[in-house]
Amino acid sequence: MITWGSRFAVAKKRKGRWTIARRVVQIVVAILFFVPLSAAGWSALGLGFSSPEEPLATPSGFAWWGSLSSSHLFGLDLLDPFAALQVTAAAKSVAFAGLAWALPVLVAYGMVRGRAFCGWACPVNLLCEFVDWLRGKLGIAVRERAVPRKAKVGIAAAVLALSAVCSVPVFELVNPISAVNKAVLFGSFAGVFTLAAIVFAELFWAHRVWCRALCPLGGMYETLGCVGLVSVKIDHDLCVHCGACQAACLCDPEILDDVLSGKAGRVVAGDCMLCGKCVDVCPYSALKIGFALPRHPEL
Ligand code: SF4
Ligand code: SF4
Ligand code: SF4
Repeated sequence: MITWGSRFAVAKKRKGRWTIARRVVQIVVAILFFVPLSAAGWSALGLGFSSPEEPLATPSGFAWWGSLSSSHLFGLDLLDPFAALQVTAAAKSVAFAGLAWALPVLVAYGMVRGRAFCGWACPVNLLCEFVDWLRGKLGIAVRERAVPRKAKVGIAAAVLALSAVCSVPVFELVNPISAVNKAVLFGSFAGVFTLAAIVFAELFWAHRVWCRALCPLGGMYETLGCVGLVSVKIDHDLCVHCGACQAACLCDPEILDDVLSGKAGRVVAGDCMLCGKCVDVCPYSALKIGFALPRHPEL
């Protein structure tokens, strides 16, 4: 009988091209969105030091400028869609400019798969993957699933409702991505408690609990992820049901249940980050990432 331990051992042995490609993209994203800002923040570009209270002047000649929350990219202003929704809820009126800046982000990730942001761009995921690796090295055992993965969608809805009630975009007060921005840009420890809480929960409570089940931004991208055109697909003839893909899944092993049982030809869960880890670890190359129409799970 194949145990979760032996499945995990198989999963750990095989590292592949999707993981390498993802690391390259994660590093490029970090360079694009953190290096110019932090260089300016620390006066390396001669733009003068700014504090969190004093926004940096945007150098007009830069092709890109900003953070993962708000940026200017090749002439286009971009805003985190969840931040735009919170601002709209807090203001109790439609913030058209903010929603217009969020639209290109929604369309881009909506066409690919919402949580591709999580898998390929979010620096917190990179941190959580490192903590996952560290926990394995330290031999700390945690629960596989402490909170249902769908909880993050409810948390996202609750954040929007609370933003409306308090007239404040509440998640932005503790957003771990903003905390990374502030730490890199200003050396500020404001918000660092969010990151510390996430690391603590990942190390001692449950496997990838923040990104799998709790993060409201991930919840919003999960909702968007139901319509993506890129999916993990399976060749049922090649699958031997070893379970290595489920052991390696960055989201939740259950999102692969339908493809492994033969009910679906591709992963349809909006949760999928398109991280490609399942593809990389499959010993029989039964999985691949490819295009598929949203309404045809069997394809
Ligand atoms: S779930 Fe949240 S913290 Fe995790 S990768 Fe996605 S956006 Fe980042
Ligand atoms: S798809 Fe590959 S890794 Fe997953 S159970 Fe089948 S053979 Fe194993
Ligand atoms: S199903 Fe595969 S691609 Fe999707 S999150 Fe899990 S491991 Fe990553």
